[in-house]
Amino acid sequence: MTSNTGFLRVDLRSDTVTQPTPGMRAAMAAAPLGDDVFADDPSVNALQAQIADLLGFEAALFVPTGTQSNLCALLAHCQRGDEYIVGQMAHCYRWEGGGGAVFGSLQPQPLNHQPDGTLALAEIAAAIKPDDAHFARTRLLALENTFGGKRLPMDYVQQATDLARQHGLARHLDGARLFNAAVAQATELGTDPYQEARRIASCFDSVSVCFSKGLGAPVGSALCGGRELISRAHRIRKMAGGGMRQSGGLAAAASYALTNHVQRLADDHTLAQRLAAGLRRLPGLVVAQPQTNVVFVDLEGPARAHASDLIPQLARHGVLATGLYQLRFVTHLDVDAAGIDHALAVIGDIFSR
Ligand SMILES: *Cc1c(COP(=O)(O)O)cnc(C)c1O
Repeated sequence: MTSNTGFLRVDLRSDTVTQPTPGMRAAMAAAPLGDDVFADDPSVNALQAQIADLLGFEAALFVPTGTQSNLCALLAHCQRGDEYIVGQMAHCYRWEGGGGAVFGSLQPQPLNHQPDGTLALAEIAAAIKPDDAHFARTRLLALENTFGGKRLPMDYVQQATDLARQHGLARHLDGARLFNAAVAQATELGTDPYQEARRIASCFDSVSVCFSKGLGAPVGSALCGGRELISRAHRIRKMAGGGMRQSGGLAAAASYALTNHVQRLADDHTLAQRLAAGLRRLPGLVVAQPQTNVVFVDLEGPARAHASDLIPQLARHGVLATGLYQLRFVTHLDVDAAGIDHALAVIGDIFSR
């Protein structure tokens, strides 16, 4: 991407930084609107029906953020004093300000992640408390897919959610990047990404999906689930201040993204591979093999000397990223091969000094 000064700039901080495409803006401008608090915004209703149908659920709720979507899910599944089992680094435990505890008086039971991002089945089983007044009631298992750019293996998702069901736990998926997981899975199996998304979703009682990440919409997430659960979530959304009015313009962007931006996530994954392959040639950079659109790079040995100034130095050359000793690069709709090659040239220049 070239800025209006002709200066080459590539923003790899996150897949949230995308601008709506002309097609998306046209869909937003053309969206029929109503008042969604009266449930009569046709564009919101259409989006909710579209995503629920696509993922195989009875109902869905359009919410402003993924954080609010997860909060609605946690509070719809759990009562005060209930416990949810969750990854130590999972977004809905670690990165949402403790919302489940603050607003729901829920007790998280975090578990460490395995190197592939999963929670060990034996540790999940051991964390489920017996019905005993000493313990919080274990009520929910919350998984995240993708997690740190990693796709959870499908057989693992099946086993973990079966285990939860056998113990009477509800199952929630934070699928902020569900479609990245689905596209990676479909690429591997030679199947259809929508079908893979539905297959992953079928293991859960609720699924949260972000439209504002790789799908490229400006704002919004959806929580999908059964009619009763979504009706409870609807009440919580109102309490959380998420009852929006003429939100159909935003819903239309999300709808456009669901139709037009799912298949193309494969391009983001290819660019992540291109970046990883290039970075791997540089000394002192340990590059994890990207499974989707996130590239993590650890700095080792003399390369660590660059760490403190690296992010600002990259930014001065038009390459935006995050991290310190571990750098993170995320590909998305507004990144192309020229941008990746520019990033590689700039990083190569720094590390060859
Ligand atoms: C981004 C993200 C969310 C929600 O983010 P918001 O910024 O609140 O929309 C939730 N879970 C995961 C895994 C995410 O990456």
